Amino acid sequence: MGIVEAIRAGRILTMSSEQPEIVDGGIVVREGRIQAVGPWKEFAGVGTCRDLGPVTIVPGLINAHAHLELSHLAGLVPAGLGFSAWAERLFAAMRLGRASGALVAQAVDEARATGTCFIADVVGREAGMVRQALDEQAMDGHLFREFSGRVKGNDFCPDSLPGSWSPGVHALYSTDSAFARFIKAWCASRDLPFTLHLAEVPGENELFQSGCGDFADFLRARRILPKDFAPPGLSALGFARELGLLDERTLAVHCVQMDNRDVEIMASSGASACLCPRSNSWIGVGEAPAAALQAAGVPLCLGTDSLASSPSLDLWEELRAVRPLLSQNATLYDFVAMLTCNPARVLGIDADYGSLEAGKRAAWATVPSDLAACV
Ligand SMILES: [Zn+2]
Repeated sequence: MGIVEAIRAGRILTMSSEQPEIVDGGIVVREGRIQAVGPWKEFAGVGTCRDLGPVTIVPGLINAHAHLELSHLAGLVPAGLGFSAWAERLFAAMRLGRASGALVAQAVDEARATGTCFIADVVGREAGMVRQALDEQAMDGHLFREFSGRVKGNDFCPDSLPGSWSPGVHALYSTDSAFARFIKAWCASRDLPFTLHLAEVPGENELFQSGCGDFADFLRARRILPKDFAPPGLSALGFARELGLLDERTLAVHCVQMDNRDVEIMASSGASACLCPRSNSWIGVGEAPAAALQAAGVPLCLGTDSLASSPSLDLWEELRAVRPLLSQNATLYDFVAMLTCNPARVLGIDADYGSLEAGKRAAWATVPSDLAACV
């Protein structure tokens, strides 16, 4: 039978279409799953009662972009350097040491303390450590095994990682375009989510338009640019579209260097944009056109990025940072959608997460009072 618990809260934003907001609401939970959600008066006397008080609760938060394996670099790469200098300092710091399981576990623990219940994490060589830390901390997550450079056709056989994962592309300036196309097709054929860093760096568009500029010089000097790179004469967004990388299962991360045509490309593709405003500010790459993306109907998600470019994995802080970039008419529902139902949909985890409805996991977060006061 299992223990039945009834949770009471002053307000519940369920993020479901049927009853999006319930004042004086209740959630009935059995064995970690939601049995029912509704007005508290319907649940009086059901199971063990836990009263959370006059708070607003929402579905457990989803961090749509992190790099937990960089957790040991917290505070080691200074802010405000610009992308190339930030990357140089990052590479230097990475050469000095690797993450430890304890530091990754600590980062996961801090994320959970601020309401996160799921992390979509980009991993490289520490994939096993990250998965172990997630498991040990009882945090759910999807790993994006990141690829860059060039892999010859049939040689691509991604390591089998424990738990749910899919391959991703670092960025179009660091990955051979045919390889990027191949990885996206691989994900699409298995109905898996796909991700890449896109339109983050000033100079990215100039690189793809003409092959020139400071960023192009930086990439060539560091041998990051694929050997046979030829500028397609498109913006970063235009290039991603031409390669067939943008659709409903694609999470394009950053989306800063975009004009109105690029916003239209995103909107018509159905791809989701994962904004990381604190990372963008830390590195100094500019601000994403969040209001324009939202107005065009692009599903927005939020990610903290790594502790090498963000002060914390606290998604509420990420939300506070993106708020001034959104339309003044944006509501609390719009804000919370970026942390719940939107990432759940693109990651394909909406059977378990993204809304508070019967059958889903009993994971919720309490909205901080300053944000709960938003209409
Ligand atoms: Zn990143």
